[in-house]
Amino acid sequence: MKLGMGMMRLPITDENDFRSIDYEQVNEMVDTYMDAGFNHFDTAYIYHEGIGEEAFRKSVAERYPRDSFKVATKLPLFIITEESQLEPIFNEQLQNCGVDYFDYYLLHNVSGFTETAWKNVDLYSFIQKKKEEGRIRHIGLSTHGNAEFLDNLLMEHPEIEFVLLQINYLDWEDEAIESRKCLEVARKYKKPVMIMEPYKGGFLADVPEEAEKIMKEYNPDRSVVSWAMRFVANLDNVCVVLTGASNMEQLKNNIDEYKNADALNEKEYKILEEVSEIINGNITIDCTKCRYCVDTCPKNIDIPKIFDLYNKHKILGREDWSQPGNAYLNYSKLPDVGIASDCIECKVCIEECPQKINIPEALKDVAETFETETYGFG
Ligand code: SF4
Ligand code: SF4
Repeated sequence: MKLGMGMMRLPITDENDFRSIDYEQVNEMVDTYMDAGFNHFDTAYIYHEGIGEEAFRKSVAERYPRDSFKVATKLPLFIITEESQLEPIFNEQLQNCGVDYFDYYLLHNVSGFTETAWKNVDLYSFIQKKKEEGRIRHIGLSTHGNAEFLDNLLMEHPEIEFVLLQINYLDWEDEAIESRKCLEVARKYKKPVMIMEPYKGGFLADVPEEAEKIMKEYNPDRSVVSWAMRFVANLDNVCVVLTGASNMEQLKNNIDEYKNADALNEKEYKILEEVSEIINGNITIDCTKCRYCVDTCPKNIDIPKIFDLYNKHKILGREDWSQPGNAYLNYSKLPDVGIASDCIECKVCIEECPQKINIPEALKDVAETFETETYGFG
């Protein structure tokens, strides 16, 4: 098993501009990660509003010899409606990444929803052809579908060599995500698994106080996030654990936690069950900030950003409500962005959300919380 460097949430210089990548910091992070003995980078066509692959090229491909790293990227199914798009997009991706082959190439977020757009496009034959041409070493797919969906996919497509799945202790028995069951399906078909969201978009690094207390009482020397890493790093049939870092400190922590990820004992598994119950009772909106919903919103609402502020507000409570409230007010003054009450309930975003969040309903809560006189509205 390896630790992969996910490039979905790289450091940025302007918090309101996802394309403002802080290359100085990213380069240092890449160097630190490589110096620690790892070399697997994971990007995608859509990351960082379309410049994620370019960021990989500038920080890795242009700075390291090709045989020193592995790169995984993904075909953006969200925009595929015709066969004729495949070749140009694939060639653009090679150019974006600055490589002449991909080590791993995935169909990005295969789901019942994305399938409706590309159902007449033979994606599977295309990626197989690219593999035969030597442009891809291994073909795979990522999905947030449930175990039954994954089972059907792998039965119909034995050519798929590996899968990228959302697995962490909180989603292990979750009825919508079905981490455990999905992993079992992959094992059944003998497909190695790459893991995404081992910290569930940061939720498992910042658990409620009550949960942290239980973890610390059991072992004061272990960080909260170490529990999440130890959970995934000791699963069978896993080839890569992807962690995304938005700064150097997070990256160093990821490396340390991975290197020290010894197996959990029975008592610790029990503690994680208890912790999951507490977290589930506290989570307000379990958005992992993947940003899949953002491009589809006709009102240009930065959904993950305002969900993040809302969650912070709920965690901080009344003690320090002004901080997220002020940030929301500042956000509302940016040009060309929508705020929560601008939502017209078209529901397009719901189909995009891997966490199955009822976004328009959640936005109503956000609007009721922030768009009040207390926070400078009205
Ligand atoms: S339901 Fe609201 S948030 Fe979702 S896409 Fe439509 S306008 Fe945007
Ligand atoms: S609301 Fe859903 S789709 Fe949008 S960023 Fe959050 S998890 Fe991703």
